[in-house]
Amino acid sequence: MLDEALDHVEGVRDRPAWTPVSAEAHAALDAPIPLEEEGASAVCSDIIRHVLPYSTGNTNPRFFGWVHGTETPAGIIAEMMAAAMNSNVGGRNHGAVYVERQVIEWCRELFGFPLGTSGLVVSGTSMATIIALAVARHRATEGEVGTEGLIGAGAPLVGYTSQEAHNSVSKAFELLGLGKRHLRAVPVNEKYEMDTDALAEMVRTDRNKGLKPFCVIATAGTVNTAAIDDLTTVADICAQQDLWLHVDGALAIMHDALKDRLAGIERADSLAFDFHKWMHVPYDAGCVLIRDGERHRQTFSSQAAYLQSSNAGLAGGEPWFCEFGPELSRGFRSLKVWTTFKTYGLRRLGQAVWQNCRQAKHLAALVESHGKLELMAPVSLAIVCFRYADPSMTPEELDAINRAIVSEL
Ligand SMILES: *Cc1c(COP(=O)(O)O)cnc(C)c1O
Repeated sequence: MLDEALDHVEGVRDRPAWTPVSAEAHAALDAPIPLEEEGASAVCSDIIRHVLPYSTGNTNPRFFGWVHGTETPAGIIAEMMAAAMNSNVGGRNHGAVYVERQVIEWCRELFGFPLGTSGLVVSGTSMATIIALAVARHRATEGEVGTEGLIGAGAPLVGYTSQEAHNSVSKAFELLGLGKRHLRAVPVNEKYEMDTDALAEMVRTDRNKGLKPFCVIATAGTVNTAAIDDLTTVADICAQQDLWLHVDGALAIMHDALKDRLAGIERADSLAFDFHKWMHVPYDAGCVLIRDGERHRQTFSSQAAYLQSSNAGLAGGEPWFCEFGPELSRGFRSLKVWTTFKTYGLRRLGQAVWQNCRQAKHLAALVESHGKLELMAPVSLAIVCFRYADPSMTPEELDAINRAIVSEL
């Protein structure tokens, strides 16, 4: 099976990016629950025939359609070893805990966060955002929300994010009981970046109405156009207005030439980003960093007799990761991050990011010099928004053909 896995990766370039699931495979995956053992070799052959050929396609060099990360052989090996160990990284004192702490420490340095920063390797930016905003909510209510719920915490809390923000932000508002209505959509400028004057004005208006502004969610690389909000100005507004600054940095940029574009990110109270996008780590793996590690722990910590720690043996290892998020049992996601970083080095991973940005500029130039293609947004990083625009077609015909092109792509 290891050979199969590596052959699968080695031959990826020779196959189409995506293959529809065959009728035969679909039938094989619509079977009754197996009461009797089928044996390892039969199951392996099932995987090879009915599952393996039908991957998402994101590991293919010609997968251009969506914001999906690819992978590396290092990630495959790490996933296998993590499964062999089957560590529960909720807490205690064992190797996986040290690996995750190391990954968090590297990320703290990478993004310029101070000592005392805490963090978790999580499933992705959606979960990281929920955790970060839970800490922001805890701060805004001085912890009251934990015992009294939001209803006991006074005036409604209001947050701000741009119209271009990812929908994981409004999902988090819904889940945390803040209510989507209390997430303001700040307009964007012609580069699809948050209009910071409008932000300041909206905060003032809400305060005058007796509401309680508590956080701003800025984006460093939107999913539509890769626009980066002006993090320095947003951080200034947050400092003046005593608002929590959360940055959705899902794309996680690592090349020196792009560092200036992220100026201000080190001032965030919390940061969410993905290893499984531009850092080439296999799904799923994202990260949350929280500047105030103590507040982070207070938000999620609770006592239970069966979770009692001690300063000796396997029950040691404080603080435990389960005190920093909603999950108690946690897999060994950090091994594939650690392995990827060490195998290739951050310099080389950053070069791959930079190469993607140059490819995007090249594509944009091709689009602009083509008579029947039209660039639809400035190219900020590696996302190119363009459409087919034959002047002889009606707007309806153009919409239809562009939808068809997207499906084909
Ligand atoms: C992908 C993405 C998310 C969601 O991250 P998941 O890892 O899919 O949960 C949030 N924000 C932005 C800007 C993204 O690109």
